[in-house]
Amino acid sequence: MPFVEAAPDDLMGMDMPAVALIPVSPCDTFRLLHHPQREYNGLDAYPMRWEKRAPLAWALFTDGPPGGLGNDIPRNQLTLSPAHWMELSAYPIAQFYKDHGLDRDPNDLVIKQDLVSYYHALLEKLDLASGIREGWTITSLSSRDADSGPRFELEATRSGDSEIQTITANFVIYAVGPRTLKRRLDVPGEFNQPYVSRHYDHWDDFPGQRVMVVGGGRSADWAATELHDNGRDVIYVMPQPQERHLRLIENSQYLPYYVRINSVLAEEVRTIDTRYETPVTSFRDDGRVWINS
Ligand SMILES: Cc1cc2nc3c(=O)[nH]c(=O)nc-3n(C[C@H](O)[C@H](O)[C@H](O)COP(=O)(O)OP(=O)(O)OC[C@H]3O[C@@H](n4cnc5c(N)ncnc54)[C@H](O)[C@@H]3O)c2cc1C
Repeated sequence: MPFVEAAPDDLMGMDMPAVALIPVSPCDTFRLLHHPQREYNGLDAYPMRWEKRAPLAWALFTDGPPGGLGNDIPRNQLTLSPAHWMELSAYPIAQFYKDHGLDRDPNDLVIKQDLVSYYHALLEKLDLASGIREGWTITSLSSRDADSGPRFELEATRSGDSEIQTITANFVIYAVGPRTLKRRLDVPGEFNQPYVSRHYDHWDDFPGQRVMVVGGGRSADWAATELHDNGRDVIYVMPQPQERHLRLIENSQYLPYYVRINSVLAEEVRTIDTRYETPVTSFRDDGRVWINS
């Protein structure tokens, strides 16, 4: 708080090296600065004012579209937190709803489509789109001799034609997200059996009555529940013990879709066939999956 009080007119003027020493994680400090209010109280009560200044020379290289991980979330899945916690406060999500005629409450959870559309609109609104280099993967990053200009050299490869560009920069913000290395099971058939999908978007992408979900985290919980609720027989296979899965469900009862999976698992007649502590050992021909219970 004293750091904020010392820079009342300009948060960017705060003593950041000193802030970094307070015993709160940098991520939580940033979140607090960005979202000082837990509840959304209307655009008029917005606690911060943003103004545009002369921009730095910047570029953002990304292999995926704006919205990052948000693009891979199932089509109808809701977030874990209220919509306005996911916003960048220079463009309140309430303003986005207003600008696009969407009748939504910023205190509610937000569906993936709205969130991804918000991130796209934000780039337009703040005039950032021209700095984004989409479809480029950073393949190397090295430091340079500090006496001779920019301190970093990066190599970017464009998807499609594999063109390579070298970029130099004084600063690098390394924000590749939590999923840079995609997880794999490393079992036979994982990548070559046509019935194995490594992505879940919507229940009607999966024809057939019996569907196996392999996972055990939030995305798998969503997929298993949505498939079950749309009439499929779901076999839900996960490596962790039942207690751990039930703890996640119990700790998530503030979310409507976790209330739902809880009640489905409690049903005796038509429930989800859960197999705990069960790794998949191979995906074989004709939809036969070997598991090791
Ligand atoms: C189902 C679900 C619900 C969630 N709900 C919430 C919520 O309610 N509230 C909340 O705060 N968070 C939520 N999250 C978490 C949130 O989505 C992530 O914390 C957030 O996306 C992280 O943002 P990021 O920019 O750090 O990384 P990402 O969104 O992962 O973006 C990183 C980007 O970098 C790209 N990239 C990686 N490597 C390279 C490379 N070498 N070259 C170029 N580009 C590269 C990636 O392709 C990606 O586009 C949820 C996540 C999931 C899966």
